[in-house]
Amino acid sequence: MAILTKAPRGTQDVLPEQSAKWQHVERTALKVSELFGFKEIRFPTFEHTELFARGVGDSTDVVQKEMYTFNDKGDRSITLRPEGTAGTMRALIEHGVLGGALPVKVSYLTSCFRYEKPQAGRLREFHQFGAELVGAASPAADAEMIAMVSQIFDQLQIEGLSLEINSIGCPKCRADYNNALREYFRSHEEELCETCRGRLDRNPMRILDCKSPVCSKIAEGAPVILDYLCDDCREHFEELQERLSDLGIEYTVNPTIVRGLDYYTRTVFEFVSNAIGAQGTVCGGGRYDGLIELLGGPATPSIGFAMGIERLLLLMEKTGVPFPEEGSVDIYVGSMGRRASLEAANIVNSLRAEGFRAESDVVGRSVKAQMKYADKIGAVFSCIIGDSELENGKVAVKNMKQGTSDEVELDELIEYIYENRLGDVCGALEDGFSDLDGMNIPPEIKF
Ligand code: ATP
Ligand code: MG
Repeated sequence: MAILTKAPRGTQDVLPEQSAKWQHVERTALKVSELFGFKEIRFPTFEHTELFARGVGDSTDVVQKEMYTFNDKGDRSITLRPEGTAGTMRALIEHGVLGGALPVKVSYLTSCFRYEKPQAGRLREFHQFGAELVGAASPAADAEMIAMVSQIFDQLQIEGLSLEINSIGCPKCRADYNNALREYFRSHEEELCETCRGRLDRNPMRILDCKSPVCSKIAEGAPVILDYLCDDCREHFEELQERLSDLGIEYTVNPTIVRGLDYYTRTVFEFVSNAIGAQGTVCGGGRYDGLIELLGGPATPSIGFAMGIERLLLLMEKTGVPFPEEGSVDIYVGSMGRRASLEAANIVNSLRAEGFRAESDVVGRSVKAQMKYADKIGAVFSCIIGDSELENGKVAVKNMKQGTSDEVELDELIEYIYENRLGDVCGALEDGFSDLDGMNIPPEIKF
């Protein structure tokens, strides 16, 4: 049955040969966020549907069209998380974290689920790295979050992403703006899609975010929020720009960015690429000063962002960004006979305890087949232990690339590998990869 061997539409497997790239991106993001003082938070894959209806906003595309919602066996309405902010805020409120020292800085790596039309860069299960800076109202916080995204992209050696920022004001200035929008869209009411007609009264800003070509065309002529900002919001936006310039971060103001989720206030931003087609937004974020209160917590101004890992990897592959080389197998210790097989198992065990990647035969292959396998997995060194090696306490260690070999005392094998593998580590350092976690480095020299 095809259904047994075909993953559901809009989902993707990460096969072993791709996972090192994922780990590189994830590790880099976590590491940079750590430098900015963020700690990881993990939260459930599903929540009560109400959390997203409230938190994301029930006039958004996400809530109206894209959620995976079902009743569980206890007849509760449950939804697979479409994003990470609502769950994070629920967790912080539930555990009283917001009563402690502020700001709270948390980051997450998580899968998200949205029932969308699958295409390049748009999946039904996708992954985000996100971060939330909770309990800081100042534009300094906005600038710091943007600087963090920017450093993650720099560390990953990604080029060509442009930062677009906007302010969508606060509820105070938005009242006037919403009236102006309603007036404008009402004159085009007949042409709008059905969903947007429903949004006209409740939340006309959402029309600006509609993906239908007709609605987006009409939206081009709509009034822009920047003309309606109150003094406080304008000042906030100006200071953010001053701070970004001061940090040397290039940006453009794009008054059409409103972001797809209802909870945003003031600063919104996107990092956009034109190298990966229509789904070019790699990272989106913004300030959500009212969200925590809306969910029943203490009023806590906050800002966050999320980047799509699949889109990021797509961009890195399309633009030829280098990935660190995968750690290779340091040594394959082959064996001939049962006694030698036990010895080989002991040797690889000790090598692994020292931080080396070592393999021995677990299939019961002939010596010839073992060597073929060692070559296939790209072992840097190999050796074969048989009765005579056990007797002499010496083994010939072959350098698989150079074809040379050295006679090594069995109980000095670890020292031999240690000395000979250090050169590769230094090479990787020279290539500019500061994160060595993915490589086979003896723990003593990791920093
Ligand atoms: P889009 O406008 O592309 O639908 P969005 O505004 O819905 O994006 P956010 O909710 O802000 O996206 O999510 C943050 C990031 O997550 C996006 O910038 C994107 O990189 C990624 N993302 C969102 N939806 C998907 C999806 N269906 N498949 C893959 N990545 C996604
Ligand atoms: Mg979307």
